[in-house]
Amino acid sequence: MRALTWQGRHDVRVETIPDPEIVNPRDAIIEVTSTAICGSDLHLYDGVIPGMKAGDVLGHEFMGRVVETGPKSTLQKGQRVVVPFTISCGKCFFCEHDLYSACDNSNPVENQDITENLYGHALSALFGYSHLTGGYAGGQAEYVRVPFSDVGPIVIPDGLEDDKVLFLSDILPTGWMAAENCGIKEGDTVAVWGCGPVGLFAIQSALLMGAGKVIAIDEWPNRLELARQLGAEIIDFKQTRVLEALMEMSGGLGPDAVIDAVGMEAHGFAPDTVMDNIKQRVGVGADSAHALREAILAVRKGGTISMPGVYGGFVDKFPLGALMEKGIQLRTGQTHVQRYLPELLRRIGEGEVDTEFLISHRLPLEDAAEGYRNFRFKQNDWTKVVLKPGMAA
Ligand SMILES: [Zn+2]
Ligand SMILES: [Zn+2]
Repeated sequence: MRALTWQGRHDVRVETIPDPEIVNPRDAIIEVTSTAICGSDLHLYDGVIPGMKAGDVLGHEFMGRVVETGPKSTLQKGQRVVVPFTISCGKCFFCEHDLYSACDNSNPVENQDITENLYGHALSALFGYSHLTGGYAGGQAEYVRVPFSDVGPIVIPDGLEDDKVLFLSDILPTGWMAAENCGIKEGDTVAVWGCGPVGLFAIQSALLMGAGKVIAIDEWPNRLELARQLGAEIIDFKQTRVLEALMEMSGGLGPDAVIDAVGMEAHGFAPDTVMDNIKQRVGVGADSAHALREAILAVRKGGTISMPGVYGGFVDKFPLGALMEKGIQLRTGQTHVQRYLPELLRRIGEGEVDTEFLISHRLPLEDAAEGYRNFRFKQNDWTKVVLKPGMAA
């Protein structure tokens, strides 16, 4: 089959590799019909996530048709399914408490041993996202093996097109959980750093949950315009001093809740951020935390920070004092995708949640490397890339 493989920093290629096979009784094989490139794939592309090996198949946002099932899969051949990016067993302590991204059984135990692993990570396996999360082949391919297929995938009724439901795999529930983690009360003001896909879905979700005002912060005009169309007020951080503007827009208090939808590759001109970017480039395991620092300073006293943005290592100059003295609550984590699927599928079906507005480009799988390059370096125009393995190249 053809699949997009990681070869090194800014080097991904579509290659021919062996088809996946059923390994465990609960597995299923999916023929991929649509798969997206995620903002967090760009952390892999930039080479800042540890544990990658040349030849790894990327992709954790995908859907398709079931073509083969193990004896203990509950899926049936021919069903259309969206597959969560988190691989979860459904039976361990964490899965039983709806904490699917903390599953104990899908990621090899040595990756979860916080006394041994340098980064202290302990999370479920993820598709196509480094050997720290299990080294499972991803879905930017013609076929993919789905472990625990009786737990993760959600069956999609015919009539709901791929482009409406594909984002159930990650960014839609991730934006939703980011807003839920804000504990929004009717009329609250919520500020969102980053108008990428997760930020935009967080904006839509926060408004659905009753936020009175959502303020979106980014630098790209097209992305800010999408945020405005969803109902947000906008701040262009290249033109406006963010902290001052946020105080003014929230009646001098600061926003009730803030969302860092940027993560570990934040950039900017603040001295701490420039240092972050240098350390990251030379690979000393430091994350760039500009958005998070600013969020901590901006949120009102007693407010909440929600952090869906991905971090991998350690952060310097973290304003821990401000976090403590202001009595701020910080909530984060990889998304417990399975928890949100039935409700979000229903909301999509009823037209309450819009997903298609996000897609800027649809490409054949063969053009995946071009998709990565443009998504990475032309962020203004390339808001979301969907790859279609069945589309003629
Ligand atoms: Zn993703
Ligand atoms: Zn589990």
